Amino acid sequence: MDVIRLLSDSIANQIAAGEVVQRPASVVKELMENSIDAEATHIQLIIKESGKTLIQVIDDGKGMSTTDARMCFERHATSKIKESNDLFNIRTMGFRGEALASIAAVAQVELRTKRSEDELATSIKIEGSEFKGQEFIQAPQGTNLSIKNLFFNVPARRNFLKSNPVETKHILEEFQRIALAHPEVQFSMFHNEIEIYNLPSAKLSKRITDVLDKSYRDQLAQCQVDTPFIKINGYVGNPQTAKKSRGEQYFFVNKRFIKNNYLHHAVTGAFESTIPQGSHPFYTLFIEIDPSHIDINIHPTKTEIKFDDEKAIYAILRSTVKQAIGVYNLTPSIDFEADINIGNYASNHNPRPTQSPIRSSESSISSFEKEPRSLGEINQKDNRTNWDKLFDGFGTKKDFAEDEPQQVIFSSKINKIEEVVPLPKDGTDINAIQVHHQYIIAQVKSGLMLIDQQSAYERIFYEKYLKEINTQHGISQQLLFPKTVTLNSIDYALSFEIIDMIRNIGFNVEEFGQNTYLINGVPSQFMDEDEGVLFKSIIEQYKINENNQKVDKKEALAKTLAKRNATKMSKSLGKPEISSLINQLFETSMPSISPDGKQVMRILSLEKIATLLLN
Ligand code: ADP
Ligand code: MG
Repeated sequence: MDVIRLLSDSIANQIAAGEVVQRPASVVKELMENSIDAEATHIQLIIKESGKTLIQVIDDGKGMSTTDARMCFERHATSKIKESNDLFNIRTMGFRGEALASIAAVAQVELRTKRSEDELATSIKIEGSEFKGQEFIQAPQGTNLSIKNLFFNVPARRNFLKSNPVETKHILEEFQRIALAHPEVQFSMFHNEIEIYNLPSAKLSKRITDVLDKSYRDQLAQCQVDTPFIKINGYVGNPQTAKKSRGEQYFFVNKRFIKNNYLHHAVTGAFESTIPQGSHPFYTLFIEIDPSHIDINIHPTKTEIKFDDEKAIYAILRSTVKQAIGVYNLTPSIDFEADINIGNYASNHNPRPTQSPIRSSESSISSFEKEPRSLGEINQKDNRTNWDKLFDGFGTKKDFAEDEPQQVIFSSKINKIEEVVPLPKDGTDINAIQVHHQYIIAQVKSGLMLIDQQSAYERIFYEKYLKEINTQHGISQQLLFPKTVTLNSIDYALSFEIIDMIRNIGFNVEEFGQNTYLINGVPSQFMDEDEGVLFKSIIEQYKINENNQKVDKKEALAKTLAKRNATKMSKSLGKPEISSLINQLFETSMPSISPDGKQVMRILSLEKIATLLLN
């Protein structure tokens, strides 16, 4: 007896759906990409219960005819390719004609669609591949697809879905990738009736800050290169934006999001010693390449890609990124008031894409910026070296006795303890003053350097705490009377995530049962605070940062403490303290930018001062 049978379409579709539709986020990706392919200018995503009960995508794209509206749910039904040659010249996001058929096999689907030339829209309902009805309705141009109760007919798969926060995170990732890849398109997103995103059509740099992180605003370096083989454009974050956690690294090849470790390495390699080992710089880079050079015939849910000449791309990418951040690392001082974007600076001021940083000797900017240097040199030592150079001509190392390193005593508000900060040998006699208990003005060769006192301390403390968290070298001051602090159960559970880091920076705490900690000692800088309040507020701030998934736990904690401690430093500083501040600042890895991305210092050039006074 023969036993082989052909599977019914609905079973075949359900099996295919297993590959295409893994979770709500896969549906989001497929629908949004279809809207992009339909040349929509406005795409709206509406989600309920993390996509488990509703995923709706509304676009103002081309729409479909009534026949196409029926056809689009057939397997291997696509308008995007016609013949096998087309496979080597794919410019659309989709081309397999599988997505809608797969989605319709495992959900309750309602499609409304209208082309501009049609009077009426077509509405079609399908549940588990089963056609449920069709009618003509009134609707605006475009396509409106609702996917309800995903996996309603495949309980096993429904049960495999993760918790709502996890599924929402996946959806957000897909949404963000598509929004980044298409800054010219307006996007909005609602989850359980709450607006999560409303992104106007914008330039890429604005889209990046809108989607990812407002603090990237002044921290993007533009990358651009145009070769006959590939075009690269996009932005990398300055080294300071590098985070311990991966996740904000975006490559798009012909606008398709991809992951590629080899190319990732090209980018991180370009950062060399400007970032600590194991941290990842932000980037959003678009590679445009003739589709014949890539093997696009990859699985729809996969993000790998194959190039025929990966090495060439590696080299071009690396040098482009080097170029971009090389310019970035020169402290910006071109336009004093203007809110310059370093990215623009890079492109406007360095027209030689293959050369490394500027060598102009005629430039009116500070000597800081005139120093040609290779990227390998940009590290802590380099900052100090340059700081040295800044003082060329009015007080160099040789003017000082080098044998006796000086020390500056910082006393805390209540003078309980003193913290001794060794002053670097060089630059003892920095010509600088403090004004308004807020700013430091230092004389530098090319003019005046203005330093924001608070941001400078934030940068210094931030690196100090980060280092202590990593090396467990925080120094604890014993309390005379240990103190207990009781947290609510949620905060107590949460505290386990950071208690070790807190200990590393000098908190001596023990678990005391019943959601309570016993505080025996605190870092010296915090002696003047109520320990209980301090401890609770660290947890509180940590919770806030934790919600922002982009922030690494250690960085979040270091930032919290640095801010807290820096606030205390907005006070009158003596001359040695000013010198120490400047020297410590220039020993940090990123003296010009605060941990929050604020500008710590600017140089007001003599020319600028002259023009200011003229007007
Ligand atoms: P693919 O995108 O690979 O072609 P899909 O199953 O995603 O396959 O879609 C099938 C077809 O339905 C598409 O080729 C397109 O012609 C049409 N289609 C799908 N979504 C839309 C949309 N939002 N607007 C206009 N046409 C669409
Ligand atoms: Mg598609």
